[in-house]
Amino acid sequence: MSSPPVALLTGITGQDGSYLAELLLDKGYSVHGVVRRTSNVVRSRIEHLRADPQLYGSRLSLHYGDLSDGTTLRRIFAEVRPAEVYHLAGQSHVGLSFEIPESTCEEVAMGTLRLLEIVRDQEQPVKFYHASSAEIFGRASESPQTEKTKTAPASPYGCAKAFATQLVSVYRQSYGMFACNGILYNHESPRRGQNFVTQKIARAAARIARGLQQELELGDLESRRDWGHARDYVLAMWMMLQHPEADDYIVATGETHSVRDFVEAAFAVVDLPWEQYVRQSAALSRPTEPGRLVGQAMKIRDTLGWQPSASFPQLVQEMVEAELAAIDRGAAATHHP
Ligand code: NAP
Repeated sequence: MSSPPVALLTGITGQDGSYLAELLLDKGYSVHGVVRRTSNVVRSRIEHLRADPQLYGSRLSLHYGDLSDGTTLRRIFAEVRPAEVYHLAGQSHVGLSFEIPESTCEEVAMGTLRLLEIVRDQEQPVKFYHASSAEIFGRASESPQTEKTKTAPASPYGCAKAFATQLVSVYRQSYGMFACNGILYNHESPRRGQNFVTQKIARAAARIARGLQQELELGDLESRRDWGHARDYVLAMWMMLQHPEADDYIVATGETHSVRDFVEAAFAVVDLPWEQYVRQSAALSRPTEPGRLVGQAMKIRDTLGWQPSASFPQLVQEMVEAELAAIDRGAAATHHP
């Protein structure tokens, strides 16, 4: 019997990492995840996988490491000998990158360079996926954006992702490495971090409906994003590494919705008039908002046959219902379904 393919994930404890780990385990992979040392050992998004004795310690393993620690990452590679690497780790909040620009750039930009250098030195062939972002386009010169649109980041996060994205294509061209950029537009899910606007809205709608919160304060309600579902987007990552040739792909729905649309849809799930509960606050707006970010995902659709399956109303409904269920289980504070 041939041994299962081996995948190494950075950022396995994050939203995307947890869905991708489930997908790869379902496909029969042996999955290795890099986790940071934290004071709290409960890794809520992957706890259900870690608690499964059929998986943990056999087809799922976790390794302590940090993007800043190249020696340890190199040791993990030597031990695991991965065939596929999904690099998802890093500070992922655009707004926060204005507050912690140096660590954001260190993790997102230099962390990717460190990994590319390690991949370059591997004896076995390694396929590398890099979690790029629509934020590389920032104040985009055209809309919708394609793989050919010029980068014009509008935040420290966008700058760091643009650097990492360009490095990935330089390493592909210079060393013939199988390295792909997935240029992903915003994607959400019930596992989205709590300081992201979509989760903040979903959570508030559920808490207001259950009488646990009185109001919701938001920044610019007219801000628009191309929002997809994380489960669909991790499938796109996997598909990129199964194609015979490495390339860069936009992953997007091609539709935009405003924060106001999200609020309306979320409060509709709990049947409440959102205008009575939502307040706009200038203090929550970003120093600079990106331009109209909407992706044209024709290349990935035509080349790999990928397309999003979840609609915007389905996404919002799933997020609000997950929050309601968490409150009803009495576990809202620490919950990740
Ligand atoms: P997320 O939920 O914030 O997860 C980030 C992951 O990175 C977590 O596992 C985190 O570990 C880990 N991490 C952060 N800094 C690290 C470090 N120094 N060393 C090791 N691990 C570190 O993000 P996500 O939504 O899953 O996104 C995954 C990737 O896609 C990110 O690179 C993000 O920038 C990119 N991306 C996301 C979107 C989106 O809409 N979600 C769109 C485009 C691109 P802890 O659990 O210990 O914090």
